[in-house]
Amino acid sequence: MEFTEDQINRYSRHILLPEVGGKGQKKIAKAKILVVGAGGLGSPAALYLAAAGVGTIGLIDSDVVDLTNLQRQILHHTPDIGRPKVLSGKEKIQALNPDVNVSMYEERLTAGNALKIFSDYDVVIDGVDNFPAKFLINDACFFADKPLVHGGILRFDGRVTTIIPKKSACYRCVFKTPPPPGLVASCQEAGVIGVLAG
Ligand SMILES: [Zn+2]
Repeated sequence: MEFTEDQINRYSRHILLPEVGGKGQKKIAKAKILVVGAGGLGSPAALYLAAAGVGTIGLIDSDVVDLTNLQRQILHHTPDIGRPKVLSGKEKIQALNPDVNVSMYEERLTAGNALKIFSDYDVVIDGVDNFPAKFLINDACFFADKPLVHGGILRFDGRVTTIIPKKSACYRCVFKTPPPPGLVASCQEAGVIGVLAG
């Protein structure tokens, strides 16, 4: 695989870095990264991955864009209200970088589909807004042996960590089980009060 002149220009600031170089940029171009949740965390993650030249980005989200999403979910613009988030996200990613292939999964992640979807990717990003989904992603990454980049925010606090299955502690090692519903605010449990990653 060789880069075109435009691609060499587009990625020149990466290629100039000795730690990346042309070899690293080709590795990035071959990478397949799955972003679970096209919301407040998934939006910036997906856009930066696209800008960086990640060759394949998967987007999972079953929701449509709502006006209340737009203050933080920068994959979606005002005319996208009412449209599927995966479609809106794919358009913004490809407008930013047409080199990127985007696979859309307009569905909820479940114990039934997680392992199958994850098997096609090198890295999984957790950008979901509820605890059951965070545990499901953790468990599926553990069994599928996929590195997981976990993120969470609540009000003014945030956390990001990378979990390497069977090498580092996983999400479940740290938190054991989801908190009882209502104990910690999240989008699903607390409506507009909570903004846990959504
Ligand atoms: Zn663990």
